[in-house]
This record gives sequence, structure tokens and C-alpha cells, in this order.
Amino acid sequence: MKIELADRLKKLPPYLFAEIDKAKNEAIQQGRPVIDLGVGDPDIPTPDIIVQKLREASLDPATHRYALNKGLRSLRVSMAGWYKSRFGLDIDPDTEILPLLGSKDGISHIPLAFVDPGDVVLASNPGYPPYNSGGIFAGADVHMLPLLEENGFIPDLDAIDGSVAKRCRLMHINYPNNPTGAVCDMEFYERAVSYAQKNNIIVCSDAAYTEISFDEYEPPSFLQAAGAREVGIEFHSLSKTFNMTGWRVGMAVGNPEVLGGLAKIKSNIDSGIFTAVQYAAIEALENADTIKKDLNRIYAERRDTLVNGLKDIGWEISRPKATFYVWAPVLDGYDSTGLAKAMLDKADLIVTPGNGFGKYGEGFVRMALTVESEKLKEAVSRIKKEFF
Ligand SMILES: *Cc1c(COP(=O)(O)O)cnc(C)c1O
Repeated sequence: MKIELADRLKKLPPYLFAEIDKAKNEAIQQGRPVIDLGVGDPDIPTPDIIVQKLREASLDPATHRYALNKGLRSLRVSMAGWYKSRFGLDIDPDTEILPLLGSKDGISHIPLAFVDPGDVVLASNPGYPPYNSGGIFAGADVHMLPLLEENGFIPDLDAIDGSVAKRCRLMHINYPNNPTGAVCDMEFYERAVSYAQKNNIIVCSDAAYTEISFDEYEPPSFLQAAGAREVGIEFHSLSKTFNMTGWRVGMAVGNPEVLGGLAKIKSNIDSGIFTAVQYAAIEALENADTIKKDLNRIYAERRDTLVNGLKDIGWEISRPKATFYVWAPVLDGYDSTGLAKAMLDKADLIVTPGNGFGKYGEGFVRMALTVESEKLKEAVSRIKKEFF
């Protein structure tokens, strides 16, 4: 029998990291002192109080059965309460919140609810891969919204062709942004709302990094923009905010009809979040302020260690106001893949080539602040020795 992949899988972009992955595995196997700045996955464990809550809750057999698709009401109330205290918004826990198995669950599945073959999905580029793959799985034509340095990595909505806009059903935006570390202001969100109203487009705002920010800067929510709740939703995640990437808890917040469509798709795919994890998520949200302060102090120190260190040796890199990513222009004579490869070969450093996030990421590499400051200092000294 011949096993053939479906066209939708064949349409996914080629995997660009094969060569680097191979070199990385070899380096690790050879016992070289690899420093991994490649993965966007916090190195710090989940805070103890959250783990303790899971332990306790998991002892109760009532948590062992199928969860409700919409999640515990107490979780939705807690999510709404967090939105109120963080963004000043009144969110109805019964109609305007949908818990998710991580925000990737919602981001990747939402096109199945609202997009038909031949419709257009707009996805920022460079960007988080599920914006693209989720659209492809729904049969959409995914159009790129280029994030260019000269525009502060904010998409120029006026540059979108009118015929594309007409076919467009859904648009993904993401601030604070992975991979560029860029932030946006309320004015961009207001422009996105009016663009969406004019063209009848659902806006999906990916807010996974609103809680990782520095220097007193507090990233806004898309839902704070006037009219946002008529045109869209926002995805949040406990993954980065509470070092809970493995736990799979996130939420979609906003327009009830949009959430209803997503809920319908999900009710046919999954059966909710493990109930004990939901209790742990409530614990996390109730301690959000303290946890956030501790975490952002650590990331700020790491950011300054890396950015100052690289500036001192002559690599000019902008200091991100949010996210745990540093988006660095490549050094002279290299493209993204070439620099990532050279950094591994010469300095045992793993960084992510920017073009892995889409073609407009070419010319950059991404370094994640998910290792201790001491290792970042060591990374800087290796870069100095081999590249400057
Ligand atoms: C990490 C990340 C997420 C969160 O993913 P989860 O599924 O919630 O763990 C969402 N969007 C972006 C851009 C991310 O980098």
C-alpha cells in the first residue's frame, strides 16, 4: 500500500531547520558546551503554589473524569477577573471567555470555524507558524502581512490589495510580537478595528506576551480598542506568563459569536482541560501580580546582560520592551541561516534563523532569554572571540 499525505500537509512550508537541527544534535552528542538560545520555552519552573494546587486537586477523583468543554465556571470567572484587573475590561465569564488547551489550540483551529476554501487569511510575517498552517488546513489562501523594521514591525494595512481584502475573513496580529520583540500602541489596534469593520474581517489578536514586559511598560489589550469586541477576539496563554508551557492552558476572550464558532469546532476535537489543571490555573491567575513581578525582574536582567554585552562588542541590537526575545540583525557577510550555522559551528551557540518565521524574517536571528545571565555573558564572550 502507498501512503500519501493529504494536500493540506504538502502545502505547509518546507522545514528550514533540518540542517541546523542535525548540527545541533551532533554538537550535543559530542559533548560540546552548547548554549541554547533557540527555544521560546521558559527555563524557570512553574511556581510552587501552582504545582501544589495541581497535586492537591489531582487527589480528588472528581477531577479525573471528562472536563466540561467550556471549562469550570470558576476558571472563567477567574479569567474574567484577571482581565478586569489587568486591562480594566468587564468580560462576561459565560459568553466572552473560552478556555483553551494552550492558545495554539485556538489559533490553529479558529479558521476551521470561519474560513472556507478560497477565502483569505492574513498572517503577520515573520510570525508564529500556526497563523499560516491553521489557514492552510482550512483551505485558505494565506496572505502575508510583512512586518518591516522601517515600520517598527507593524503591518501596513493600507498596503493590502483591495481584491485580497475583499476575500479576507480573518486576520492574525500579535503584540508584543514573537519573533521581533516589537510592541504596538492603541492607535494600531484602532486602525485594525476600523479595517476589520470596513472589510468584514475577524481580528484574532495573539497576546501571549503581554505579561512579559520591562521598564514599567504595560502592553495594552486589543480588546481595549473601541469596537474591538464587535470584530474580534484575543488569545491569551498561561504558558509564558506563569512558566506553564507544558500544562496547556490558554483562553480566547471577546466576541461571543466568534467564540461560539471556535467552541463548536473544539467540541468535536477535544474534551476540555484536565480539571485539576484548571484549579491550578485559577491559583496562577489569583497570584498573577507577584509572579509577574518576580519573573520580569529576571528577564529584564537577562535582557540587559545580552543587549549591553552585544552592544559593547559592536553588535547594535534594539532593546525589546517586551517578550523574552532579542531580534538581532545578521552580521555582515551572513544571511539568517548562515549566521545561525556559523554561531553553532564556531561558538556552540544555538539561535533561531529569522527566515524560519517566514520570508520577511530573513536578515535576522532570534535569541531567547530563556537561559541564566551567566550563560548569556558566556555567549557574548564567545561571539566576541569568534565574530568581532
Ligand atoms: C508561545 C506562544 C504562544 C502560546 O502558545 P501556547 O499554546 O499557549 O503554549 C502563542 N503565540 C505565540 C506568538 C507564542 O510565541
